[in-house]
Amino acid sequence: MFRSGAQRCLHCDAVLTGPVCESCELTPQAAALILRRKIILRTGLFLLGSLAFVVATYRYPPLDVDGMLVFCGVVFFAGLGLAIWVERGALRGSQVAIRKRLFLALLPVPWLLAGLLVVNAKLDDAKVRRHYTRVVGKFAMSAIVPTRRLVVVSWRAGRRYERVPVSQGEYAEFHVGQEVVVEIHPGIGIPWVAGVVPASGFPVPSAGDPSPAQPGGWSARGSRSPGR
Ligand SMILES: [Zn+2]
Repeated sequence: MFRSGAQRCLHCDAVLTGPVCESCELTPQAAALILRRKIILRTGLFLLGSLAFVVATYRYPPLDVDGMLVFCGVVFFAGLGLAIWVERGALRGSQVAIRKRLFLALLPVPWLLAGLLVVNAKLDDAKVRRHYTRVVGKFAMSAIVPTRRLVVVSWRAGRRYERVPVSQGEYAEFHVGQEVVVEIHPGIGIPWVAGVVPASGFPVPSAGDPSPAQPGGWSARGSRSPGR
């Protein structure tokens, strides 16, 4: 569809046969100006979407937030790079049709991820599940967005640790070695963190009894067994 060689209109991608595009009647200069304006506007939308995603990860923090943040970060920088590439290309009058399509394909991704987190939380009507565990590490970073994690012994099969996103208050409250209860909303596929509370207020679950499948039930996998 986009053979190299043929000069195409920057506005409508029609093949140029004369000084003015037959399809949209714009000169290449006018088409470049319109394209650059559009790209700037869409880049704004893309940045807003990325911001919406970050806000959603604070409002409904997924248990696996770090993987999602890395993915969205890659999309963010790829999208920004493509936007600059299209804009620079339009300025020089180069062919940008393929770059433009790549950018348009990435544009909705942050919005979709943000929407996914909101829908996952809003449609979630299951009870909070409490997981009894122990803090084994803490991690805080205040680069672009403040990041606070409590590293706890995992209750999920095949995993050693969970990096639980926490608030500033929770981060300050808990120390390494402390036993805690992590409250998790199951979501509709993406478990998200309701909060972390001290384990002292809860009865100690017996190792044979806990039933993670039961709403509000205990999951004591790995708890009370140091060295796991
Ligand atoms: Zn045109």
